[in-house]
Amino acid sequence: MTHDRTVLEARNLSKTFASRSFLGRTVSETKAVNDVSLSLSAGKTYALVGESGSGKSTTGRLLQGLISPTAGDVRVIGADGISSEQSTARANRDVQMIFQDPYSSLNPRRRIRSILEESLRIIGERGSKVLRTRVDEALSAVGFSDEHAQRYPHEFSGGQRQRIGIARALVASPRIIICDEPVSALDVSIQAQILNLLRKLQADLGLAYLFITHDMSVVRYLAHRVGVMHQGQIVEEADTADLFADPQHDYTKRLLSSVPIHHPSQRTTAKG
Ligand code: ADP
Ligand code: MG
Repeated sequence: MTHDRTVLEARNLSKTFASRSFLGRTVSETKAVNDVSLSLSAGKTYALVGESGSGKSTTGRLLQGLISPTAGDVRVIGADGISSEQSTARANRDVQMIFQDPYSSLNPRRRIRSILEESLRIIGERGSKVLRTRVDEALSAVGFSDEHAQRYPHEFSGGQRQRIGIARALVASPRIIICDEPVSALDVSIQAQILNLLRKLQADLGLAYLFITHDMSVVRYLAHRVGVMHQGQIVEEADTADLFADPQHDYTKRLLSSVPIHHPSQRTTAKG
């Protein structure tokens, strides 16, 4: 086994959301994330599991730099070994995100090529030849051709849209991808295709994934390491096989004991 290479390190992250009255007074505070530390390694998947409201998406957004922490920090370690604070331009282009519902973030009036080019312009790419080549490469990596590039988002199925979401992340040549419930809205047969694609891309490109999910069967299939989130904290972290074989925390045991239950009403309560 090769030695793990750390590409992202989050230390003692906290995020508190304050809701205010219209006069600006703080009415209540939510500690969405409370002292979370984790690291991501090249070529490896870290799954973040836990029920709805446990702070998984907030953690993902903090790692991506979409929101800034109330306390703690995120550092991204570049291919050259240089570590930069998240939210610097350099760290930003290394970390991309894919979402449960890519459609809501795909501009319906623009063709796929233009949507992907925009993703490159955001990180400062300008040359039209570079844009064209990089978009072609990203589309081909998810199994699409130039013909798909000419179409609009509504012309694709749910699974195809998620592949476009993946291409839009890939086009920036990230080293880390935050995947927030990327298959939760898809049919089971389509889920497998997307998960296989993500695994292939990881093997080919050495990508590090933070994979947010409430589905323990997805965790077992994809993750190398797992962090169990409960009320804003990581209450247990272990290698995947160890977590399933010998869960330590009561909350993890409860989460695992609900796995074989496939009754739809039980599954929806675990959704997050
Ligand atoms: P999960 O992804 O595990 O379902 P989230 O990270 O979305 O959990 O939410 C964690 C907690 O933080 C929840 O109580 C949620 O209501 C709250 N929260 C998340 N985002 C915001 C926000 N922008 N403003 C206020 N509260 C938020
Ligand atoms: Mg969420």
